[in-house]
Amino acid sequence: MSAILNTYNRKKISFKRGKGSFLYASNGKKYLDFVQGIAVNCLGHSNNYLNRAIQKQSKKLWHVSNAFVIPEQEKLAKRLKQKTFADYISFQNSGAEATEASIKFARRYFYSKGKKKKNRILCINNSFHGRTLATIFASNSKKMTEGFYPKVDGFDHFNFGDHKGLERSINSRTAAIMVETILGEGGIKVIPEFCLKELRKLCNKKKILLILDEVQCGVGRSGKFLAFEHAKIKPDIVPIAKGIGGGFPVGAVLVNKKVATGMKPGTHGSTFGGNPLAMSAGNAVMDVMFKKGFLNNVKNNGRYFIRELNKIKDRYPNIIKEVRGKGLLIGLCLKKDQTNFINKLSDNSLLTIRGSENVVRLLPPLNVTKKEINLALKILNKVCDNYK
Ligand SMILES: *Cc1c(COP(=O)(O)O)cnc(C)c1O
Repeated sequence: MSAILNTYNRKKISFKRGKGSFLYASNGKKYLDFVQGIAVNCLGHSNNYLNRAIQKQSKKLWHVSNAFVIPEQEKLAKRLKQKTFADYISFQNSGAEATEASIKFARRYFYSKGKKKKNRILCINNSFHGRTLATIFASNSKKMTEGFYPKVDGFDHFNFGDHKGLERSINSRTAAIMVETILGEGGIKVIPEFCLKELRKLCNKKKILLILDEVQCGVGRSGKFLAFEHAKIKPDIVPIAKGIGGGFPVGAVLVNKKVATGMKPGTHGSTFGGNPLAMSAGNAVMDVMFKKGFLNNVKNNGRYFIRELNKIKDRYPNIIKEVRGKGLLIGLCLKKDQTNFINKLSDNSLLTIRGSENVVRLLPPLNVTKKEINLALKILNKVCDNYK
């Protein structure tokens, strides 16, 4: 009997080690891992460059309080600033913390302008922003909020794709709209570029802030460093997390100058956020991701993978309804419940993970090779071939 609190339906597989796109199970089996800790290990398992960076830092200094200057943190912040829309960065440890801090920053901005009642955040129904009390009520999914009332107030909702409902939901108390640029847990639903452009315009018109949750779709996953860059817009606040530490827990909130004016010493903090060891991981990920051709490679491999997956869909229209995604954030939307399909893939040594709407998520490391993608395609074909 496990002493772990029963909050996960765990698969009965465990792993001894990992290398790149592969995991080696305790039972001796080798798996092609297209989960990668749910879009976390952007450079695959046990990446040599990341290993060296963390080892080097671990011998110098692990942790100091944010009460002191942390040069490794200054360095990563400067680089994120240089590579994105952001003017300032606040480091956290996880995605939920980063989205929750984003909510705080938006509220605090209007508070500092004397608009104390302008504090509501408008979100998409059944989206995903994390598992803290505030973020589950931001997501507004019954599955996540059931049993956790009283409700954390301050969130309004509209349905994905319901433009009229969105406009109708904005009122004088709305401080920000917060959406995932690409809905991850929700089933890899891409918000089209023209919608993102309209969303920016709408926020400008209503003088409210735009928060784009890029915890899953950010950090190179979509083929650009941040997914909204495809639409050539600039949000006001962007939480990131999953990929930025390459497997080490790191979260961050990127904000523009305007939002930054609402914050001052004492208004937010974190014991662990941005410690030297975490920052050495973040800096190493940035080193690799901004090497010439890296992001282009993600884009090209993503295009290839999606094109080939569509061919499988055309061959098995009774199994696969739709291929969704951008870059290497990919979802196969099945006609029926995906549980059995995922198990069959795993039986054939390909690890994938579910998303809402019968989706099977395919999340290879960003440095996956074409050969590994072809191996995944071969397994997918085989499983479809034998699927009843
Ligand atoms: C995973 C995720 C989160 C929460 O991240 P945690 O590190 O699990 O707290 C928030 N938003 C999005 C879009 C995510 O995919």
